[in-house]
Parts: sequence; C-alpha cells; structure tokens
Amino acid sequence: MFRRFVRGPPRRKAWPRSTVRGWVSHFCRIPLLLVAVAALFEVYLHRSHLAVQQPEHELDEPFATSCQEPAVDQPREKAALVMLARNKDLAAALKTVQSIERHFNQWYHYPIVFLNDEPWGADFIATMNATASGGARFEVIPKAEWTYPAWMDTSSAQSSIAEQGRQGILYAGLETYHHMCRFYSGAFYNLEALRDYKWYWRIEPDVDFYCSITYDPFVELARNNKVYGFTIALNEEPSTCPGLFREVADWKEQHDLPTTSLWRAMLAPSWVPWPFRSFMGRFSHRNRDGDAWNMCHYWSNFEIANLDFFRSKNYQDLYKHLERSGGFYYERWGDAPVHALALAMLVPSERVHHFEDLGYRHDWYYQCPANAPGGQLPASEVLNAGGNGDPSNWSPARPGGIGCRCECDGSKTRNYATYCLQRLRQPNTTQRLGLFGWLYSWFW
Ligand code: GDP
Ligand code: MN
Repeated sequence: MFRRFVRGPPRRKAWPRSTVRGWVSHFCRIPLLLVAVAALFEVYLHRSHLAVQQPEHELDEPFATSCQEPAVDQPREKAALVMLARNKDLAAALKTVQSIERHFNQWYHYPIVFLNDEPWGADFIATMNATASGGARFEVIPKAEWTYPAWMDTSSAQSSIAEQGRQGILYAGLETYHHMCRFYSGAFYNLEALRDYKWYWRIEPDVDFYCSITYDPFVELARNNKVYGFTIALNEEPSTCPGLFREVADWKEQHDLPTTSLWRAMLAPSWVPWPFRSFMGRFSHRNRDGDAWNMCHYWSNFEIANLDFFRSKNYQDLYKHLERSGGFYYERWGDAPVHALALAMLVPSERVHHFEDLGYRHDWYYQCPANAPGGQLPASEVLNAGGNGDPSNWSPARPGGIGCRCECDGSKTRNYATYCLQRLRQPNTTQRLGLFGWLYSWFW
C-alpha cells in the first residue's frame, strides 16, 4: 500500500516524447507548413491586389518649371481667393494677404472673399480694402451653417466636446473648431457668397508664399482638367477621427464605387490573412475588409479647387452621410481628411495636382522648391516691378530646380514628414523611391 501511495496512482502508458515529436512531424508539420505558405501567399495576393500601379508616364507634371512672363491679358477664370478669419486675426491675415499679393495677385488681381461667423470690424475691412488688389468682399456665414445640425442633441454633443478636450485631442475641446470643420466640409461650397465662382483658392491667416507664382493656377487647373491642387500632404492625428474612414468606406461600398488608384494610395492593406482579416475591421481607421487608412491627406489650409466638384451630388451626399453619423461633433473630424478621402474615392488620380513649384508655409510645415537654373527672368519688368526684383533675395538656383525667385532654402526639397506626399503621388508618377528613400520619407 505504502509503496503504491509513494508512487502515486498507476498511470496510463505515456507516449515517449520522441514518438510524439515524430507524430507531429509526420502528420502535422507538412500541413502546418502548407497552411502557413497558403496564408502568406493569400496575404501577398491581397496586398498586390490593392497595390498602387505605376503609370507608364508622368500623369501630373508641374505647370511651370521656371519664371514666366505673367499672362496679364489672358482671360481669368471665375475664381476667388477665400479666407476664413476672425477680426482678432487681422495682423496674421494681413501678413498672408501681403504675401499672396506680392507673389501672385499683383499680376492677376483676383478678388478675395473674407468669411467670418461674426460681423466684420471696420479696421479689418479698411485694412484689407487697402491691400487686396483685386477687391475684397466681407461676408458673414449664415448662422445655420456655423452651429450644430438641427437634429443633434446639443447638450450631449457639448459634453462629448468637453470630454474630447479633457483627453487632449488636438483642438477637440473647442466647439468653434468643430463648427469650422463641419462648415469647410459641406456648407462652404454652397455659400451664396461663392455662387458666382467656379474655383477657389483657400488661404489662411499666418501663411507665407515664398516663390513668385507667375502663371494663373486657376487657368492651368482648368486647362489640364484638374479638380484639386495641393502643396503639402501629411498624416492625420488618429485620435481626432477614429470612425471617419469606416463611414467613408461604407458609403463607398453602399454605392458600389470602384476602387481608384488614389483610394489604393490611401490604404495600408492588412497583413492578416483571410479569414481573420475581417476581424481587423473592428478596429478604428479600418474598412469592413480589415484594411486600414494610412491617415494620409492633403493639408487643406492651402487648396485650389473646383467648387463644382464639391457641389456635386456625389460629394454632397457623402457629406450628408458623414454629418448624419455625428462625427463632426462626437469626434473631431477635420475637413482636410474629408476632402482627401472624397477625392480619392471619386476622381481619377491625374485630376489632383501637386503644386510642387510653389513655396508655401503654414505652422511649422513648409514646401520649398529649389530655384530653376537660368529660369529667373532677371530682366522682366513686370516681375521686377512688384517688390521681388532683387536677385540677392532669391535663394541659389540648383540643377533640377523648378522654383521662380523662391526666397526660402531650396537645398531642402523635402522639409516636412514626406511619407504621405510620396504615397499620394504614387498613382501619378513613374518615379519610385528605393528602400532607403522610402525609409527616409517616413522619418523626415
Ligand atoms: P489649423 O490650421 O487646423 O491649426 O486651424 P486654424 O486655427 O488655423 O483654423 C483654420 C481656419 O479656420 C483659419 O482660417 C482660421 O482663421 C479659421 N477659424 C478657426 N476658428 C474660427 C472661428 O471660430 N471663427 C472664424 N471666423 N474663423 C475661424
Ligand atoms: Mn491654420
């Protein structure tokens, strides 16, 4: 008895370890390997299906690669420069207007439409009237376009906004910022004040233009069948819009829209194999299939675009769909990703133009092309008349440079996090970054 107790109850005969290993190796290892290979192959197929195809030739070239004699006698487009601002922004707004006048509008004299959610002060009006060479209009946004949608429970939206503020989400604690993003996403395009225009160039207080823009970008966009032009592309702060991409992607599915090359450029296809991939769709910034948005978008404080695209039934339906979901208030969706995802879904990539020849800064992001060798027209009377005629102010020309009299440092042609710029340009260019360039583009 005692012996038995010490030894424990009799055990069933165990398989010797080596036999178990042998069994796994014979019956499981090969199938496991096959499953792994099949899964990898499936992921490879899935990712290649969503890869951005390289075009056979360049689909989006700069409109100019050197200074031009301004075509002042050429007919203008129905277009306006548009700035949303507050009376207290006067100093920063004036800086922007002076910069765009000096670098562009002194030759083309487009009107500037100033928008505000409150009545304009006399100071602002007088200062801008004295500065805008193509005339200025001072408009107040209708109250209904600068508030919560009528159906929304305002107090619950307000407490959500307060909570977003407590969480430290960028600008998300400011009620007016939510109104601004909603306004710029939808109602802006149907403003009575813009009814006569087909094109707008959005500007903001506190931006700098660094190069002379000697051609008319509205005319060139129209001539080249573009709908939208941008300078800087970057990635959105994920905490501002966890549900945005899913809403847009669902709308795309509901309308059975084809997957364009620009839409592919917005995707970070999943690495998870079928059938587990769709589980990934439960996480934010992913579509129902489990593929993610890479957060890239065009920075909308600079945009030159066709109003009719954004007035179209397709875009306005999408906007209404997004608005009904509540995300402009219960999250802090920016107008920039809304515009960019809509463009990616609805237009061929070649209709979006990168103004790589423009020098532009807002906040700490900027783009600065190097100046074009031999392309500065130093003797041009029209160009010299406007305060940018002193060659010692121009940064040095460099081989491959395309800038016109740029005053910024063109030695750094990529001077902001540039992954998104490369990614969103992919559908339009034959140039691909090597592995090193691609890694570099992630970090600088
Ligand atoms: P950021 O570029 O995302 O940092 O946002 P900004 O603070 O620059 O705002 C974007 C644009 O909306 C700028 O043109 C601002 O002048 C304008 N804006 C923002 N909030 C308000 C507001 O409450 N009233 C008015 N009238 N304009 C605003
Ligand atoms: Mn801004």
